[in-house]
Amino acid sequence: MTMNLIDGKEIARQKRSFIAEEVEKLKKEGIIPGLAVILVGNNPASKTYVTNKERTCRELGMHSVLIELDEDVSEQVLLEKVMELNADPDIHGILVQMPLPKHISEIKVIETISPDKDVDGFHPVNIGRMMTGQDAFLPCTPYGVIEMLDFINADISGKHVVVVGRSNIVGKPAGQLFLNKNATVTYCHSKSTDLMQYTRQADILVAAVGKVNLITKDHVKEGAIVIDVGMNRNNEGKLCGDVDFDNVKEVASYITPVPGGVGPMTITMLMFNTLKAAKSIRNK
Ligand code: NDP
Repeated sequence: MTMNLIDGKEIARQKRSFIAEEVEKLKKEGIIPGLAVILVGNNPASKTYVTNKERTCRELGMHSVLIELDEDVSEQVLLEKVMELNADPDIHGILVQMPLPKHISEIKVIETISPDKDVDGFHPVNIGRMMTGQDAFLPCTPYGVIEMLDFINADISGKHVVVVGRSNIVGKPAGQLFLNKNATVTYCHSKSTDLMQYTRQADILVAAVGKVNLITKDHVKEGAIVIDVGMNRNNEGKLCGDVDFDNVKEVASYITPVPGGVGPMTITMLMFNTLKAAKSIRNK
């Protein structure tokens, strides 16, 4: 089988250059797309994500604001901050970095973000719009997956897509986006028995679990497209996905690497959503 690598870095680079051009056009109309990111506490992984988002914003000519709050900030203060940003005309997108400390309700925070500024696509209004096939902010990681498949001109309609993982931010919306594109979708999760019997039927297999080497060559049908969303550290501390890349590439027609696959697309789609939010104020 000739395996083709889906180069997420390159696809992200091209998409970002398009976004940067659109930002320049908007600036000529006096609109600078603005993203506000709220970080609560000092989680090092969250800090890295937030720094990357800020840097990418700047690289694309967008306005970015970082609001850092103490780990013990009250839920009320955080909600008030979100409401302040909802009303701020210079801010088009709001993102609250998850996870939040235990004393704060994540769903309450998500529901407080205006659906028009919900560039993560986590608000129930945007989820509902996505489910009913309406225009919506799509969650960035599944959106990035679809963009990668569009880039390689993958035919999704009528294909059997198996999504392993059913989280609200990755697995569930990924399956929904494939359904919207007329795929037949199967979800697998931790209670699925005999995972392999499902994954072996997949024309497109999406792994979004968080377990090193969960998907082996035996899980994959010859010629399948394999998308690895997982981001894990192996025993040597190296970043890797859920898929046993070296062996699965022998049977897959296309495969995403980790790093350099889905990861770069996630931040890119966040920027794209922020651009979309900024453009939408022209119609108000
Ligand atoms: P969650 O932990 O929220 O969800 C994991 C899912 O995997 C759950 O639905 C769980 O099932 C399922 N699962 C666990 N064990 C198994 C198993 N043995 N067989 C089948 N399914 C199983 O993770 P996320 O969805 O947030 O993230 C998934 C992975 O993607 C992580 O590695 C994360 O780091 C990565 N990620 C990468 C991003 C990127 O930009 N590349 C962005 C976001 C996440 P159940 O529901 O039954 O518990």
